[in-house]
This record gives sequence, C-alpha cells and structure tokens, in this order.
Amino acid sequence: MTHQHGTQLAGHVALSLVIPVFNEAATIDLFIARITDVFKEEALVGLEMVFVNDGSTDATLDLLLERQRSDPRVRIVDLSRNFGKEAALTAGLQTATGQVVVPIDADLQDPPEVILQMIALWRQGYEVVLGHRVSRRTDSWAKKTSANWFYRLHNRISDQPLPKDVGDFRLMDRCVVEALESLPESRRFMKGLFAWVGFRTTHVDYERPERVAGETKFNGWRLWNFALEGITSFSTDPLKVWTYLGLFVSLVSFSFAIFIVLRTLITGVDVPGYASLMVAVTFLGGLQLIGIGVLGEYLGRTYIESKRRPVYLVRRVYNPKD
Ligand code: UDP
Ligand code: MG
Repeated sequence: MTHQHGTQLAGHVALSLVIPVFNEAATIDLFIARITDVFKEEALVGLEMVFVNDGSTDATLDLLLERQRSDPRVRIVDLSRNFGKEAALTAGLQTATGQVVVPIDADLQDPPEVILQMIALWRQGYEVVLGHRVSRRTDSWAKKTSANWFYRLHNRISDQPLPKDVGDFRLMDRCVVEALESLPESRRFMKGLFAWVGFRTTHVDYERPERVAGETKFNGWRLWNFALEGITSFSTDPLKVWTYLGLFVSLVSFSFAIFIVLRTLITGVDVPGYASLMVAVTFLGGLQLIGIGVLGEYLGRTYIESKRRPVYLVRRVYNPKD
C-alpha cells in the first residue's frame, strides 16, 4: 500500500494512541506536532493520546502537563517509578478508551502516517494491523543479528510464533485490547501476548526511521533479558531439553563404561586416563550448572509471578478537565 491521506477515513472513529515515555522531554513536542499534522485533515477522528510516564527523571511530566493545558487530546498516566516499557504499555492499554488503539513510540520511529493505512484496513474488518518493518537499516549490526537469532530460536521452540520484524506498533480493535486485559500474568512480554491472543490480523509495511531526538533506552543487557523473558514466557522447551541431554550423556557414558570393562579384561589394567577423567568431570559439571541455571530462570519467574503483584502502580492520572 502507498501512503494515503485521511480522506478515505469517512465516518467517526475514536482513536487512542498509547505512548510509553521514559525521559522523552526531547521528543514529546515533535511527536505531538507530527500527530497534529497527520490527523489535521481528519476532523472526524476522535483522538486521544495516552502518555504513560514511566518514571521519567527529566522534565517529561512537566512538559506533558504543560501541553495538556492547551491540548485536550493529551491524557497522562503517571507511574510511581520506572516499570519498563511492557508495564507502561499495559497501563496505557488499560486507560485508553478508543474503538481502535495504537501503541506507538514517542521518538517517531513508528511513523504516524502509517496509522491512516492501518485504519483503512481495520475498516475492511481486520482486528489487528501490524506495523511491519521492511528493513532494519537504522538498527546496528549487533541488534539486527541478535534480533534475527532471537526470532529464529523463539519461533522454533514457542507454541505461538512471533511475526518477524514487528514491534509493538500496531492497530488493535477494542475487542483485542479487552482480550489482552483478560490475561492475568504480571510479567508481560507484550509481543508474545499480542501474538497469543490471535484475532484477524494483517500488516502494513513501513520503513523504520531513526529516532528524532534523545537516545535509546535499550542497551545490550536489557535486550538480552528481554529475549530471555520472551522465551521463558512462551516455551518450556529449555526445561525439557535436559531430560534428553541427560539420557544421551548417560547412554554415551554407559557405552564407554562397557568399552573400558571389555578393554581391561582383554588388555589388562590401564592406569593413565587422567585427562579423559578431567574432561568428563568438568564437562558434566558445566552441563549440570547450565541445567540448574535454566531451572533457576523458570523458578525465579514462577516465584515472582506467584506474588501476584500489580504490573505497575499509578501515582496519578491526569485527564484534560482535571
Ligand atoms: N520506554 C519506556 N520505558 C522504558 C524504556 C523505554 O516507556 O523503560 C519508552 C521510550 O520512552 C520510547 C519507547 O519506549 O517511547 C521505545 O524506547 P526506545 O526508543 O528507547 O527503544 P528502541 O526504539 O531503541 O528499541
Ligand atoms: Mg526508539
């Protein structure tokens, strides 16, 4: 599809944008200006921007409050601290009231023009319209490669494959948002949950531009944990693999034992063997530690989940009239 402008969007649609913001003072004005520009011909679109302030330590909240004074489209959910993007998105989705809801980054890496195409597809009856990145040109080599491996591994072992090169940027019908709200888990890997709920889905291709201002909040370590979260949330294969690995290793060592007994019977006692002994001991030790580590990973998650803590805490919600 090509970029179309709003004229084909006749009829009323209440659109909610959900924007998680963490230290985005540099981008908010640019974001609001761009939204205003994209939807200016679309007088009929009821639009709300639900900003979720995810514990920003800069002027983000003040700036949002300032904008809200003159812009009734701005709603603000102020979280009590930084809960992470997944939790912030959850908070925003629960607050949004629109018939269609679009999570979108504040840094304009998710081009708002694409939403017009998404709405057009929604009108054709789709309940989910994914924003699909045609190239990862603006991502670093490391991010590209690691993302690629993550999707391959994840989709191999998870029951619910993740669509490739699709982020949180997507249009969702209200029924999808309600389905998401019905999922009780407190550790929320949104990409996975989005995929898990299903619904009639299509996608729009777009080029992902660079961040307009400010800097990324996701470094290597955070991305690694994010990937772990995804895999452990949607697959138990890493737990099961040890059974088979254990069986295989036992089988090999059993065969080796028989071989040694036979050889000793035939050629007599053979003392040297320190090296092979060390290799076997350290190899098995390492294997066991990895196994325990994986167990720990899941146990830890079960433990946290079992506390049934809320996903996020709200300090205050600011609606335009307040
Ligand atoms: N974000 C957030 N909480 C966090 C980290 C990020 O709400 O703990 C927001 C951030 O303000 C932005 C969006 O999530 O609106 C995407 O973040 P970023 O652009 O840093 O990620 P990238 O595009 O580099 O993956
Ligand atoms: Mg970004």
